[in-house]
Amino acid sequence: MATNRQFVLAQRPDGVPDDEDFELVETDVPEPGPHEVLVRTRYLSVDPYMRDRMREGESYAEPWAVGDALRGAVVGEVVESNHPDYEAGDTVTGNLVWADYAVADGADVVAVETGDLRESVALGVLGMPGRTAYFGVTDVLDPDPGDTVVVSAAAGAVGSVVGQIAKLNGCRVVGIAGSDAKVEYLTDDLGFDAGINYADEDVADALADAAPQGVDAYFDNVGGDITDAVFAHLNVRASVAVCGQIALYNEEGVTMGPRKLPRLVETRARVEGFLVGDYAPRFEEASERLAQWVQSGDVQFRETVADGLENAPDAFVGLFEGENVGKQVVRVEAEFDGS
Ligand code: NDP
Repeated sequence: MATNRQFVLAQRPDGVPDDEDFELVETDVPEPGPHEVLVRTRYLSVDPYMRDRMREGESYAEPWAVGDALRGAVVGEVVESNHPDYEAGDTVTGNLVWADYAVADGADVVAVETGDLRESVALGVLGMPGRTAYFGVTDVLDPDPGDTVVVSAAAGAVGSVVGQIAKLNGCRVVGIAGSDAKVEYLTDDLGFDAGINYADEDVADALADAAPQGVDAYFDNVGGDITDAVFAHLNVRASVAVCGQIALYNEEGVTMGPRKLPRLVETRARVEGFLVGDYAPRFEEASERLAQWVQSGDVQFRETVADGLENAPDAFVGLFEGENVGKQVVRVEAEFDGS
């Protein structure tokens, strides 16, 4: 009988999560019931929003209870199927537990077709992060050609795609990231016009050089001091898409009210939060466009791959330390012996 390992939330994190907040438990491989499939995990996604699910209290997503299995986007192979749409050997993606094996209703997974590309792209540029970038730029920011667009966490899964889509729209693009290597990646590989290393530079000063005409559109992945610095450069009628606030995710409670709002009065700027899930009826449109851009080379991507289910917590925590370039995934390679 093959064994299964699965991560559960051992306790609620206090600040940045650490090893004690996660527990790897052994279970039997679950049996698929009627209409269910048994999926062997090949890649799982770690995402910043998961930090929010680890805390008690209201959010747009239900919090996990202590003892609950951790859950997120997974790409895996169907090894047993009781659902007419799937058979053993199919590759599927769905919101599954962090485990070697998971069962899911066949209606809750979708087939993955990534052609020549590694199937993990279904968790990144061709998955939820890519779609977030697509809708955030095309619908929320909606920049005009020639506009200056700034994006924070620019070398990450969402930010790297945001900047490239803005370039395809004819914009001047400035990326903010946490190291010189990341800034080089943005400007040398991805075609950003300028990059700012916030760990080394004063962002407000650096923006005066990088965005001499001011900022027409800001894609905010980060919040905190970086966003304050960008607000100082917003142009009249600028747009701000609030996608995420990763700089604040490990804080307990809100330490102060909204910041730099006088700047919004001066500029009459529009600030809009959004959730990619609201665009579910248009996911196919996003996936098709992203796939075309990836195929043509107009959108490039990188992945940071951690090896082994046991390393998923470290890969998750690394998101808050800037260890990833592009999409952070975890490769999971359990052997299935069919028993
Ligand atoms: P990333 O791949 O961008 O990884 C997170 C990055 O954030 C790190 O690599 C790090 O890069 C940066 N970062 C971490 N801590 C800080 C900090 N204190 N200050 C500044 N930068 C920091 O993650 P995703 O692309 O998956 O997510 C990006 C953002 O988008 C997150 O805020 C996430 O919650 C949000 N999001 C929102 C969605 C929505 O529907 N609204 C959907 C998907 C994601 P660096 O080295 O540059 O610091």
